[in-house]
Amino acid sequence: MSETIFSKIIKREIPADIIYEDEFCLAFNDINPQAPVHFLVIPKKSIATINDIEEQDRELVGHLYIAAAKIAKEKGFADDGYRVVMNCNESAGQTVFHIHLHVLAGKPLGWPPYTDKLKV
Ligand code: AMP
Repeated sequence: MSETIFSKIIKREIPADIIYEDEFCLAFNDINPQAPVHFLVIPKKSIATINDIEEQDRELVGHLYIAAAKIAKEKGFADDGYRVVMNCNESAGQTVFHIHLHVLAGKPLGWPPYTDKLKV
């Protein structure tokens, strides 16, 4: 598994604004926020993309969502609402190849989330 900026954050080799940590995951504020609240929840285990999630990761991936909801409740925006997104590979805009949930909140979030005209 190749080293990413997120594995360096896990090892505290580079700084991040960490808001939550437990045995399995870490959450920190996104360096380039797209909403008033924008943080990432990442597993401590390196998994490059959604395509690389294996059956043995079932509980770990569920845990990321539970952590996201826990933080949302603690920070007080759970009832108001929020969006959780995980991008996979180039067309979805994935830039860091260590899976991560984007958690966005703090303003009405448009749908669909992309700005390009959809060609179907
Ligand atoms: P994605 O494009 O889905 O792979 O998302 C990667 C996210 O990581 C982007 O929203 C970046 O702004 C964010 N990011 C990259 N480097 C850092 C960093 N050092 N600390 C916090 N967020 C970062």
